[in-house]
Amino acid sequence: MPEWPEMEHYRTQLSSLLGGKRITGVVVNREGSINEPPEAFANALANRTILFVERRGKHLLFHLDDGNRLLLHLMLGGWLYYGTEAKKEDSRFQVIIRLFDGNSLYFGGLRLGYLHLVSAKSALEQMKQLGPEPFDQRLTLEAFRKLFSGKRGRLKTALTDQKFIAGIGNCYSDEICFEAKLHPARSVPDLDAAAIERLYAAMRKVLIEAKEAGGYMEHPLTENDNVTGGYNSRCLVYDRGGEPCIVCGHEIQHETLSSRKMFYCPQCQGTA
Ligand SMILES: [Zn+2]
Repeated sequence: MPEWPEMEHYRTQLSSLLGGKRITGVVVNREGSINEPPEAFANALANRTILFVERRGKHLLFHLDDGNRLLLHLMLGGWLYYGTEAKKEDSRFQVIIRLFDGNSLYFGGLRLGYLHLVSAKSALEQMKQLGPEPFDQRLTLEAFRKLFSGKRGRLKTALTDQKFIAGIGNCYSDEICFEAKLHPARSVPDLDAAAIERLYAAMRKVLIEAKEAGGYMEHPLTENDNVTGGYNSRCLVYDRGGEPCIVCGHEIQHETLSSRKMFYCPQCQGTA
């Protein structure tokens, strides 16, 4: 599932591609991906202009000129493509937004993912449930420490809890724990001040590096895009069970924690 780096990468790319562009039409191939009857959805979007694109947690919010928002969550398997219809087979996409300049924004892989048309108030209400953004200026080391001081349970479970911190999922929680040299199943109340400080630095380092490398999405965003997915081969532990750790050579372990996949190096990250 796309996480902070993937969605932040999409946000920056789409902001320049979509900002100020008028919607001329909408194709809905899967009604379950939207929250209104297709015709009403298409009518509400026709002739609206996309002002800018915002990201909150793993969501993208497309701000429209009538004050409403398109709220996107890609969930597992969702992805985006931007370009001309000649290049893509339309039926492969659940929703397509046509723009006045001949380009379209294509929404693929939306099975659990969704694109909802909501009011500003409703969007705000839904986003209110999320925890702080990893790079919120108010989330200083001190605030991060405070946040963790009230948390119980396992480290990976805390990092992937969207109501605790927004935007981190299965992949980057493992990468952050590896960078911080902490076992992902460590008990949060057992983490000392030095561990929390390493965790804070690791979160910021891993997320920014992954975003700058283009995240791990498999599909390019545009025809000539060679940035998206650049981080795919750079994960150090995630999905590398059985491979040698690049730091110490020990075999990377693959276990399950609360029905989530968990990858770690027992030598570098110690025990739970
Ligand atoms: Zn190691």
